Amino acid sequence: MTNWFACIALPQSRIDALLSDSTPEQRRALLAENFGHWHRDVQRVLDAGRDREFLFHQLEVLAPLGSFVNGRTALIGDAAHAMAPFLGRGACEAILDGEAMGRIAMARHGLPLRNAALRSASALTRRRSRS
Ligand SMILES: Cc1cc2nc3c(=O)[nH]c(=O)nc-3n(C[C@H](O)[C@H](O)[C@H](O)COP(=O)(O)OP(=O)(O)OC[C@H]3O[C@@H](n4cnc5c(N)ncnc54)[C@H](O)[C@@H]3O)c2cc1C
Repeated sequence: MTNWFACIALPQSRIDALLSDSTPEQRRALLAENFGHWHRDVQRVLDAGRDREFLFHQLEVLAPLGSFVNGRTALIGDAAHAMAPFLGRGACEAILDGEAMGRIAMARHGLPLRNAALRSASALTRRRSRS
């Protein structure tokens, strides 16, 4: 199994129409209009999905959080720093967040995690997710 995705910038009114009442043919036409002139291998991928349903989702850009920690609660992974799909690294970042939490807890503060440890981990993971 594999998956692919493409990102298209559209006015909100067009997105609303696509998500509410577009037909599969209209959705495929939108893909062809935007990517049909790309490399022939892209064309082959589009052709391969001719009889299939495509999923459309709206992407939103959110303001970055000032901290991933509130008291004894820490956000990691997508909850802390959801990423655009074309970055292809959300899962990698979630794993690294977990590793950072474990490393800081073990090295400096012992278990269970104390607030200071969570703040250290937050600073580390926030720096990385913004780079
Ligand atoms: C199509 C697609 C392709 C992707 N490709 C890549 C890729 O190539 N490389 C990459 O690194 N990343 C990729 N990602 C991103 C990656 O999947 C995410 O960044 C990653 O799964 C985030 O992990 P997470 O543990 O933070 O969140 P999630 O994997 O979303 O886990 C959260 C879990 O919490 C559960 N949950 C939610 N609410 C509650 C609740 N109230 N109570 C209990 N449980 C709850 C959910 O059911 C879910 O199991 C892709 C994502 C998508 C959608």
